[in-house]
Amino acid sequence: MSSQNRPMHDRWSFSQIVGALPPSVPFVPPEALERRMGCALRLRVGANESNFGASPRARAAMREAADGIHWYGDPEGYALREALAQKHGVHRGEIALGSGIDDLLGLFVRLFINPGDPVVTSLGAYPTFNYHVEGYGGRLHTVPYRDDCEDLQALDEIARREEPKLVYVANPDNPMGTWHHREALAALVANLPERSVLLLDEAYADFAPEEALLDPDVNGARVVHLRTFSKAHGMAGARIGYAIAPRALVEGLDKIRNHFGINRVALAGALASLGDVSYIDSVVAEVEQGRGEYARLAQSLGTRTVPSATNFVALDAGSGTRARDLVRALLERGVFVRMPSVAPLDRCIRITVGPAPERALLADEVRTAWQEV
Ligand SMILES: *Cc1c(COP(=O)(O)O)cnc(C)c1O
Repeated sequence: MSSQNRPMHDRWSFSQIVGALPPSVPFVPPEALERRMGCALRLRVGANESNFGASPRARAAMREAADGIHWYGDPEGYALREALAQKHGVHRGEIALGSGIDDLLGLFVRLFINPGDPVVTSLGAYPTFNYHVEGYGGRLHTVPYRDDCEDLQALDEIARREEPKLVYVANPDNPMGTWHHREALAALVANLPERSVLLLDEAYADFAPEEALLDPDVNGARVVHLRTFSKAHGMAGARIGYAIAPRALVEGLDKIRNHFGINRVALAGALASLGDVSYIDSVVAEVEQGRGEYARLAQSLGTRTVPSATNFVALDAGSGTRARDLVRALLERGVFVRMPSVAPLDRCIRITVGPAPERALLADEVRTAWQEV
């Protein structure tokens, strides 16, 4: 066989772990949907991006930073980490920056997981974590949701059995939007095997009630809090997030992270956005109002939304088949939404809550699509 005709996996020898992975695409992006349809989407409400946009102060800071784009960003992220440390009452050495939570999830998996090591998460939880675990050869152990919530008790039991180095929980959760009280999380942490760390994904912390947020426990060294500027701060495209973690773990990441991976525009934008508290508060208030509107929309259709502490709602379509049909019908009308991947969560469609004019249009489209399926 000439080398041109040989299948790629004969020509190159990937690492054992990567070679054994099935081909996978964790997300079909809206851009791919637009290319497929040959036209632009009318509503992009499937990925929990903030259609309110970034704060005006963040945008101005980013425009200014763009003029300095010929310089690398500060690889120590000093000013932003200092501001975040103040916000959370921890030391700068307990803050690690990443190009989004997704990046940090990969780094923490790489920091801890040897091939074959057990890792614990929920079945149907945020998929990017699993993607990284598989990419480093970890072994996933999952427990089903219970009543549309991650089942902390079942996670606790499986963690005590498997003694994983990493347990992953998103609170508030994606894809359902539900949340646990911090006391329930504290009980989970207290019960974890000695060498386990809880990766607590708090992408939606800005939208959550105070009681949902576990205090940073940098001394106990059992919890890593993951936060992002992608959701309430409206900077998903800038790719910037952070971890609040024990100093030893932050130093561990320093051995493996991409030191210039966070661009200076994102650093400037995040710092300015942190300072624009009233803008973020106004987004959070507007989202709360929008969740109420979508709950009433669901009611008028004879169904419900799952109570949410995030910038999205899971609207119950009744069955997985009906939810899939609804997602398809909405896409045909130029509306991008997503749905959970596993039963029984997949009876819902997940809709991001945006500004009022968008909500009015979305409600019309959902009403129409609801009749069609
Ligand atoms: C959106 C989301 C992320 C991704 O955050 P980035 O900072 O944009 O990488 C991570 N976790 C959950 C639960 C999310 O919903």
